[in-house]
Amino acid sequence: MVLLNSSSLRRSTRTLAQPLRERSRHSACLSEGVAGQFQDGSDVYEIPRFVFSGPQHQAMPLRRIGIFGGLHGDEPASCEAGIRFFLELSQNPEWAKGYELWLYPVCNPTGYEDHTRHSRTGLDLNREFWCDSAQPEIRILQHELKQRQFDGIIALHADDTCDGLYGYALGRFFNENLLRPALVAAKRHLACDLRPVIDGFPARESIIDACYLGILAPPPEQEPRPFEIIFETPALAPVELQIAAACTALQAVLDEYRRFLAYEADL
Ligand SMILES: [Zn+2]
Repeated sequence: MVLLNSSSLRRSTRTLAQPLRERSRHSACLSEGVAGQFQDGSDVYEIPRFVFSGPQHQAMPLRRIGIFGGLHGDEPASCEAGIRFFLELSQNPEWAKGYELWLYPVCNPTGYEDHTRHSRTGLDLNREFWCDSAQPEIRILQHELKQRQFDGIIALHADDTCDGLYGYALGRFFNENLLRPALVAAKRHLACDLRPVIDGFPARESIIDACYLGILAPPPEQEPRPFEIIFETPALAPVELQIAAACTALQAVLDEYRRFLAYEADL
């Protein structure tokens, strides 16, 4: 077993996550940890993980949601949005009523450090899931996805080729019904991309229902299937606006899913 010395961890991911680590020391709802560590040469990297436990909801069993940012290292808004959202939650725990939220703000720490889309091995990590990838980031994240059995998965991205906000709803009507209110809510910060083709896929009202192979997704065998949403901000827009839009979208998805669960419980 290799003993990893945390003092050799690079600064950038640590610096990004520091405000949330600090907050977790004073919040009973928030805990911090590490999903896993790996080595690249003599450097040690970690995929940070934060868990926010919202207040119990009497009418609904606890739902576990995974929020993933920074799979592409050159999309810093996707990393900062999760951090900002959790900081806001720590001041407003009621927003997470009925939820246990698991945040992985930097899924590609070498890319984040290098300001590159790909990890340092030159791979697009968001094409490597569930295909026997040897990449340590993928092994760590797949382990998390298997262990946690999330009820919902939200991946945050930023796209430098788009005109505005959009998202992937991955072929299921239910996903679309969660994504649409998120886009509507986030529109107060940034406009939506209304082109008929976005990122090479046909789009309708800023929603794409197809996707690439190998993207971050629940384990293939997981049943029932969780909801899956990818939310994209325009990477060339001011970062603060992207963060605000993504935070608003996250809150809207959680609100809408809670509404759906309450409705289902009443049936
Ligand atoms: Zn991306």
